[in-house]
Amino acid sequence: LGERPFSGLGWDDKVRLLDIMREAGVLWLQITGGEPTMDPHFQGAYRYAWQAGMVLTISTNGSLLWRPDLLKLFQDCPPYRLVVSMYGASEESFDTLTQRRGAWKAFRRGMDAACEAGLPLRINVVVTEDNASEADEMAALADEWNVENHAYTNMTPTIYGGGEPLLAQSAAHLRQRKPFAGCNAGHTFFHADPHAKVSICKVGRDDQIDLMAEGIDGLTRLGAIADRLMLRTGGCEGCALSGTCRVCRPLAKHYQEA
Ligand code: SF4
Repeated sequence: LGERPFSGLGWDDKVRLLDIMREAGVLWLQITGGEPTMDPHFQGAYRYAWQAGMVLTISTNGSLLWRPDLLKLFQDCPPYRLVVSMYGASEESFDTLTQRRGAWKAFRRGMDAACEAGLPLRINVVVTEDNASEADEMAALADEWNVENHAYTNMTPTIYGGGEPLLAQSAAHLRQRKPFAGCNAGHTFFHADPHAKVSICKVGRDDQIDLMAEGIDGLTRLGAIADRLMLRTGGCEGCALSGTCRVCRPLAKHYQEA
């Protein structure tokens, strides 16, 4: 599923990034990773964002949700949603796909504790070529926990925008996308990477804005960047099917690279 190196801003810059977001009027904030809950600044940053009035969604592998300090944080400052990724329905497949021995046991422990605490959970059932035979069992396990679940079959690139995860998709489970009819990326939402480099979304990473260098004013360039990235130029030029294409131009670029 691609490398997820552990690196990012120090505490002071994280606070500055959140201040810029608050000043820009960010209301919904989704914190992803890698695994965000293992960041030593996670709890402080989460609380800071929550106290700034943001509505928070956390994407996590669930492995630390048993920790009393995390459970207390989520009870004191409730998230909108905790989205937990599930990578298999057995220890063998789960640990193989995550390439981490003990991942299955940690996931189960975290889920049991989070369910017990009544946290607002949703499970993303990650279906790849390697674990596709367990797709139904994964959904059944999520149902057993009584947690809303969603099959995540159409992968998007990694934290650095690489196309490797596209190669791991299960061809049999890929969903047909609707013809692409436009997207507000860069206009009503944006993506900030771990170094506060801002792009229109996590897929369209070209022309990043360095928020630490430019401050809030840098965000005023996003709309024009978005409009430019959406133009069907470059690899799409001359394609007779581009009018009925089911992916946006930034995603099409990743497919072409993959
Ligand atoms: S991947 Fe494409 S459709 Fe999705 S948010 Fe980015 S630009 Fe929009």
